[in-house]
Amino acid sequence: MKSLRPHIKDYTRDALRAEFKRRGFSSYRADQVLSWVYRHGVEDFCEMKNLPIPLRTHLEEEWDIRSLVERKLETSIDGTRKLVLETHDKEVIEAVLIPEERRNTLCVSTQVGCPLACSFCATGALGLTRNLRTGEIVDQVLRARAVLPEEEVITNVVFMGMGEPLLNLSAVTQSVSLLTDPKALAMAPRRITVSTSGLVPQIRPLLEVGPINLAVSLHATTDEVRDELVPLNRRFPIDVLLGALRSEPLLSRKRPVFFEYTLMRDVNDSLEDAARLPRLLNGIPSKLNVIPMNPHPDAVYQPPDRKTCDAFAQVIHRAGMRVTLRRNRGSDIDAACGQLAAREVRGKATAPRASRSENLPPSSV
Ligand code: SF4
Repeated sequence: MKSLRPHIKDYTRDALRAEFKRRGFSSYRADQVLSWVYRHGVEDFCEMKNLPIPLRTHLEEEWDIRSLVERKLETSIDGTRKLVLETHDKEVIEAVLIPEERRNTLCVSTQVGCPLACSFCATGALGLTRNLRTGEIVDQVLRARAVLPEEEVITNVVFMGMGEPLLNLSAVTQSVSLLTDPKALAMAPRRITVSTSGLVPQIRPLLEVGPINLAVSLHATTDEVRDELVPLNRRFPIDVLLGALRSEPLLSRKRPVFFEYTLMRDVNDSLEDAARLPRLLNGIPSKLNVIPMNPHPDAVYQPPDRKTCDAFAQVIHRAGMRVTLRRNRGSDIDAACGQLAAREVRGKATAPRASRSENLPPSSV
């Protein structure tokens, strides 16, 4: 059931100021409310002690503050943690917390399911239920922060969970505003990465939000293979995608693009593929992450053996490109790339994969 009240976490600071003013309250009170929500993690308007009583009463009676409920927290043997979260309308999404020596990275979801039907991805097998609201995206960060020890913080946020972020552009850019707002979560933009499978028209509008990082899921070096792995490629083939990344003003950002390349045995793991990659990405400041495929129960692909992965990365490295062969994190709890929602949401009705690939909303392209 849809909540009819406005939700405090759906508003950026500017939007909340305007809304407070419209309702007859001082706009600077919005800054105080944001501070309570994001700095102090308060989940009840009654606790916002520096607000005047009429505003507190109004908020309690007219607004919502809590969005996601933690349904399950799973911990992998490598320390990766998967938060299974429920929305007000009982949809289930997942966020993944990846602790490393000097940082805690949180991978957030932007949609319930995903319409893009990438053939190696468990989320893609679900189809799209709906976009997440801004508040449901930023609340993943608050819920994850709550499971960390008090002295630790979330240092990095990557929009690489369930869904294609650029199909939910407005909520994603508003979430980035809240993550980077000094009165809200105060993160540096360079600590935030938004990933796309190549929704070309939305890339420039996304990057107008600030100097965040862009990640592009490439996964293939020919259109023939990419059409199969990432059906969106039929609309935006490799040369169109890379041409857009080579054009101004993207180049003038002087920030590398992070390319993700999931290695699948006998599909895209040949040394010819490895040799093609530096040529394809020539002229784009790039960092390449090579990730062996994470198997999941719906998967039709398998990861290559370690020797093949090493040889693949070596060829790229020798060509002078920055390449990292990433290890799988959290695969034992289905928290790794391509595995999200493999268990929690399975069983819901899904459309056949072939038809879902044509399911992009017209406004998105
Ligand atoms: S890889 Fe990303 S864009 Fe493709 S189906 Fe999965 S969630 Fe969607």
